[in-house]
Amino acid sequence: MQAIAMRNLGDAAMVTVKSSQKIFTDAEVATLTGICLEHLRNFAKSRHLGFIARAAEAAGLQADQWLFTPSDLMVLVTLFPRCTH
Ligand SMILES: [Zn+2]
Repeated sequence: MQAIAMRNLGDAAMVTVKSSQKIFTDAEVATLTGICLEHLRNFAKSRHLGFIARAAEAAGLQADQWLFTPSDLMVLVTLFPRCTH
C-alpha cells in the first residue's frame, strides 16, 4: 500500500509540473493518470469529481464532455490506481 501511495504522489507531482492547463478533458485525464475512460467516468460520478460541460459545445467539443479541474486531477491520481486490465 505504501509503495502505491508513493507512486501516486509522484504521478501527481509530475502532472502538476507538466500542466499549465486549467481544464482537462476526460481523454486527457485518462492519458495523464493511466485510468481508462470507463473507470474514470464511473469514479468521477461516484466521487462527484469533474463536471459535464454542455456549454463547451461552443468551443467545438462534443456534447456531454466530461471536464476536470487540476484539483480533480490530483484527487483522481491520489485515490485511484492506474488501470492494469
Ligand atoms: Zn479501467
